[in-house]
Amino acid sequence: MPQLISNLIEMPLQPRLAAVIGAGPAGLMAAEMLSQGGVRVDLYDAMPATGRKFLVAGVGGLNLTHSEPMEKFLDRYGAARCHLEPFLRKFGPLELREWALQLGFETFEGTSGRVFPVGMKAAPLLRAWQQRLMSNGVNFHFKNRWLGWDAEERLLFASPAGEIAIRANPTVLALGGGSRRSLGSTGTWVPILRQRGVRVADLKPSNCGFEVHWSDFFREKFEGQPVRPVRLRFTNSRGISFDQQGEFIITRTGVEGSLIYAASALLRDEIETTGPAEVHLDLAPDRSVLQLEARLSQPRGKRSMSSHLKKTSGLEGVRAGLLREVLPVEIFMDPTRLAAAIKDLPVRLETPRPLEEAISSAGGVCFDSLDLNLMLTDLPGVFCAGEMLDWEAPTGGYLLTACFSSGRTAGVSALDWLNGSS
Ligand SMILES: Cc1cc2nc3c(=O)[nH]c(=O)nc-3n(C[C@H](O)[C@H](O)[C@H](O)COP(=O)(O)OP(=O)(O)OC[C@H]3O[C@@H](n4cnc5c(N)ncnc54)[C@H](O)[C@@H]3O)c2cc1C
Repeated sequence: MPQLISNLIEMPLQPRLAAVIGAGPAGLMAAEMLSQGGVRVDLYDAMPATGRKFLVAGVGGLNLTHSEPMEKFLDRYGAARCHLEPFLRKFGPLELREWALQLGFETFEGTSGRVFPVGMKAAPLLRAWQQRLMSNGVNFHFKNRWLGWDAEERLLFASPAGEIAIRANPTVLALGGGSRRSLGSTGTWVPILRQRGVRVADLKPSNCGFEVHWSDFFREKFEGQPVRPVRLRFTNSRGISFDQQGEFIITRTGVEGSLIYAASALLRDEIETTGPAEVHLDLAPDRSVLQLEARLSQPRGKRSMSSHLKKTSGLEGVRAGLLREVLPVEIFMDPTRLAAAIKDLPVRLETPRPLEEAISSAGGVCFDSLDLNLMLTDLPGVFCAGEMLDWEAPTGGYLLTACFSSGRTAGVSALDWLNGSS
């Protein structure tokens, strides 16, 4: 039984007891590795259940990973590739699919190369995984919010029974990033680790929307509407370019959606250094400027400008609305300038939407505070994994793959450390 020490409950010392804090994909994977190694694992989470964010990721279809060639896959992690590559080479997209299959979930490749479990949902997979972990002896402790360490280096938690102190060695921290606080990842670990000398890069929105100063008319008429097909081009002040076709959504405050998310790191960093960023939209990516010009030059007759635009260029609804929002009226009378504007419409993005709304966060525990086994160099026996590490990637399964993979590395490393082999 736990002992009550003043107002603190100290849990008894267990042989080979490991603590994992954070029951998202990274923490669950670390717990799996440790429990498979014969270690008793206590898994703590501030929320009342496992994997809240993982479950939400499954709402629109759980995109577990991606099937593109490994080199291209690794490039998606940008500057962090060199840090993540060793883990991803050991446990990458193929191994993740194999792991899911062993859990009872076949996966399939969507048309875009994205990989989903058959059924697309996260809940059945998470349920089966939790069952397997429990039968391996992992003890789940929900509603336990980690507060840091006390003077005796015990882990402190705010639990339903009051504040408790745990002696555990090793410890894996898998506390997530800083977006969507209601799903559990609140980023409250940042000052705790900084206080212990760990270098943590500020958490920033990644895969986020951006603000645009829409007119009231445009906002009321087109909020929530998808813009597709569209090509987005952007070159930053250092000459780095983004050029991709896809789709995005008009929001009350600006723009969001997969195409915007894909460019978001470049746009966010540019706005941070030089202010608002101008992106260029090609609203008719399947037609050349000359084709458009020829068609727009056809006699309009008695047709309204809207019907003429629709008939000659195929643009209507929100794409036509965007033209009207951005261009002065006189351009609509000039087929040459209109064709050029359809292929290259400037839209000014003011600022990223707040971290809270983002799909994921950039920043986190810097790799130079970790050794190659993901152990904090200043806190021996403490390992970190998942989105709380300083990397970012676009949507497309890259986020989850790196969380699973780094969780696995942290778990295996913690096991080796316990066994005295690292
Ligand atoms: C809407 C949405 C859709 C997404 N879709 C996809 C997708 O399809 N594919 C993809 O690859 N990625 C997707 N993601 C991103 C992906 O879900 C995350 O990157 C991933 O869940 C991060 O895993 P993690 O284990 O590092 O952290 P999390 O899943 O955030 O888990 C961290 C856990 O730590 C706990 N915790 C935090 N602080 C404390 C504390 N002080 N004490 C105790 N516990 C604490 C939290 O409660 C949480 O359970 C999506 C994200 C969102 C928001």
